Amino acid sequence: MSSTGVPLFDLQIQHRTLQESIQAAVARVLASGQVILGPEVACLEEEIARFCGVGHAVGCASGTDALSLALQALGVGPDDEVILPAFTFFATAGAVCRLGARPIFADIDATTYNLDPLQVENKITEKTKAILIVHLFGQCADMEPLWHVAERHNVPIVEDAAQAFGAEYQGNRTGTLGAIGCFSFYPTKILGACGDAGMVVTNDPEWAARLACLRVHGMEKRYHHKYIGWNARLDAVQAALLRAKLPHVDRWIEERQAVAQRYNVLLDEYHLADFLERPVVRPQRRHVFNQYVVRVAPAQREALIRHLKAERIGTEVYYPIPLHLQECLAYLGYREGDFPASEEACESVLALPMYPELTLDQQARVIQSCSTFLRQRVRKAA
Ligand SMILES: *Cc1c(COP(=O)(O)O)cnc(C)c1O
Repeated sequence: MSSTGVPLFDLQIQHRTLQESIQAAVARVLASGQVILGPEVACLEEEIARFCGVGHAVGCASGTDALSLALQALGVGPDDEVILPAFTFFATAGAVCRLGARPIFADIDATTYNLDPLQVENKITEKTKAILIVHLFGQCADMEPLWHVAERHNVPIVEDAAQAFGAEYQGNRTGTLGAIGCFSFYPTKILGACGDAGMVVTNDPEWAARLACLRVHGMEKRYHHKYIGWNARLDAVQAALLRAKLPHVDRWIEERQAVAQRYNVLLDEYHLADFLERPVVRPQRRHVFNQYVVRVAPAQREALIRHLKAERIGTEVYYPIPLHLQECLAYLGYREGDFPASEEACESVLALPMYPELTLDQQARVIQSCSTFLRQRVRKAA
């Protein structure tokens, strides 16, 4: 097999190609002396708001902070309930718990890995303060039925769009699909900083003002604290870097879509459809492919990962344990079997290398390597 590996992602390529504008951005901040918030952050907020087609954007220190700020701005606190999927990154639930509220899990749709709208409505109680949806792997959740549920019960939707910056549903971008949208600019996300960064967006000017206040210890006037907020400020260096990258994001998304399409074709060419189930893109969605996730038979997955690792092909399991079975959430009293689609996803998902600059040759290496392994397995079993 080939001597050169294929990494799961490669951040250096972007930084090499944008080296000049990134260095200029950093130099600009250093020269300005304003290293936290300030004009760079304000400009980024304006540019992100325009990119999303939303009225207001508030920069913050991470996607996790974005979730905390959004939930607190909506008044989520002790004894409240927030409904969210059992299959997502931990931060989605962590933000709920940190506010003293109770996460109420719902199962996912097995084909898209996103919240199953049919599982949401019967979990709504008089304590439900928000429905926290996740656009997992870069594809928007099934919004139309979720909007109906939210409207019927007058409960706001918060979008965890950490993996879906630039994704669209019926032509509308993430951040505009709920009351408040949350983005992460963690380095491996669609738009990545060189460190931690995040953003909260909303069309409501009052919520925007509250979010901006909560971000700096709930301080409205200097040393006058209206709320018990957070230190969730965004660094100017990260904002400047993100501004240098933002004009390229739509092209990167198109390149990611092309990479996904090529994987699909390769899976056909290698007749692997029965072994590696490809991601399903639902109609009227712009899937931004933060990850390209296939499904593998649970019995094969560990050995396949080992085989690919030996060939220096990067993979990752997002996520091996559903949230309702996490050790620190045992107090919620959930059991194995409560959310079968989430549990099955945890046992079968596998993310393959995905980044805009991934070449056809590299992808062929990945799929060929999968093919060699899986066919060997089948022959042994026969
Ligand atoms: C990355 C991520 C977060 C958290 O973002 P950070 O910037 O790492 O704090 C939250 N939710 C989901 C679904 C994520 O993928």
